[in-house]
Amino acid sequence: MSSEDVAHRLAQVHERVAAACAAAGRGTTDARVLLASKTMDVATVRAALLADAAARAAGSGTAPVLLGENRVQELVAKAPALQDLAPTWHVIGPLQSNKVNAALRWAAAVESVADDALAQRLSARVRERDVPLDVWIQVNVSGEASKHGAHPDAAPDLAARVAALPGLRLAGFMTVGARSDDERVVRAGFARLRAVRDEVVGSGAPGTAGAHGLSMGMSGDLEIAVAEGATVVRVGTAVFGSRPAAEAHG
Ligand SMILES: *Cc1c(COP(=O)(O)O)cnc(C)c1O
Repeated sequence: MSSEDVAHRLAQVHERVAAACAAAGRGTTDARVLLASKTMDVATVRAALLADAAARAAGSGTAPVLLGENRVQELVAKAPALQDLAPTWHVIGPLQSNKVNAALRWAAAVESVADDALAQRLSARVRERDVPLDVWIQVNVSGEASKHGAHPDAAPDLAARVAALPGLRLAGFMTVGARSDDERVVRAGFARLRAVRDEVVGSGAPGTAGAHGLSMGMSGDLEIAVAEGATVVRVGTAVFGSRPAAEAHG
């Protein structure tokens, strides 16, 4: 895809997000765009970052896009080549314990924390940092067996334990929505994530008061997610075009 196409498609995504925010009575910049760059090469990701910078310089009023990678191998392959643009990287896929150190060299946030073991390992490894690591609790709202994430019923207690760990800042909650053509099913999943967030933020447990983030919605369902309160939408194909067929997400 050409740089012009990437720029055009990114602008369209920002328009979709702004329209969805407006329709929901939210501020048009209340949901930020994260570009899921899996399988895309450095030149394509660079084109998107440059297009984003140009749009902001021209007065778009949007926040800088975030970048997300599912696999640490891809993160460490791309991040050095994009360092001059200083993007903010999020890990958005399951993180194996032996990849934690490599991920932490580049990632400002890990959105895929779904168990205590990973949270404890992250906490142990980030203590030398000046800035805490942002962590998000990934919740499997659809119950689909193929999907990573804590059970919604277990997520609040997990979140409270994670929020209490040194070196970590609980930023919010993340989910991959149901794969369904029934909008009501997708919407109910996003509403469930919001309910988990509201329960945790309202709990008064240490470290949870600021955990307002809701990372939910992708190319196909971002409008529904924004309507249900998404603060970050994670977009791949809508900006970059389709990926090789073998690349599932979850
Ligand atoms: C690939 C991926 C996305 C983006 O999906 P699209 O349908 O291409 O927009 C979002 N979140 C996660 C976790 C992903 O793996």
